Amino acid sequence: MPNSGAMRNARRNPSNDWKCAPNWLPTLGNRSRGGVCKVWGVLNDLLKAARGVRGWRDWRDWREGLDMRTWIPIVLVAAAASAWWLGRGATGEEPMTEPGTVEIYSVAEGKLIQVERVSLSDAEWKQRLTPMQYAVLRHHNTERPFTGEHCEKPSGVGVYQCAGCGTDLFVVGTKFESGTGWPSFYEPIHKNNTGATVDRSYGMVRTEVHCARCGGHLGHIFDDGPPPTGLRYCINSASLVFVPKAE
Ligand SMILES: [Zn+2]
Repeated sequence: MPNSGAMRNARRNPSNDWKCAPNWLPTLGNRSRGGVCKVWGVLNDLLKAARGVRGWRDWRDWREGLDMRTWIPIVLVAAAASAWWLGRGATGEEPMTEPGTVEIYSVAEGKLIQVERVSLSDAEWKQRLTPMQYAVLRHHNTERPFTGEHCEKPSGVGVYQCAGCGTDLFVVGTKFESGTGWPSFYEPIHKNNTGATVDRSYGMVRTEVHCARCGGHLGHIFDDGPPPTGLRYCINSASLVFVPKAE
């Protein structure tokens, strides 16, 4: 029976004389009316009981008077709200990638240059990048530690560029061994070339760092790095392409 829980409540509380799904739903079939009955019943239970709660004893009576069919939706809603709260920002707070120009430092030209922002649709990014690059750069994923190709410091000099748009991001000279399993740098190649936002995902407050030209997510910035900056740019290998300097 679709409304047996409600019927139980009605038996337990003789004054519980609410009617099932209202008659303004004539076009719904019996199955839909059954679903509406349950929701309608739960809402009525809560409203009616809440009106009578005046103290701790009333609250305890009310709580004990509710059956499983009333508690399950409450627990599910609370769980969904908690999951949303902890997970919000995991893919939100996207860095700005609308069209326009941005001034970045170019190693090849040895100066600041004006370039067009790279603004692509999600489908275009998916086509352009490898699955790992796409997951990290466009959806803020983090590669597992010690799995990326740029964990080790290269023997020669060179530049790490954004795997999404080729912007120069870091030079080998600022890379250090952090022991974390992710490529770590104490500063970017130029302050214009990266941007930072507050990242509140997974219940933590961290500083997210991204490419200034395409908005691609690179990693996070922490304040436990070595001199001269004291910062640790903890970067995903998947977001970088290494270009050795030929000399
Ligand atoms: Zn980029």
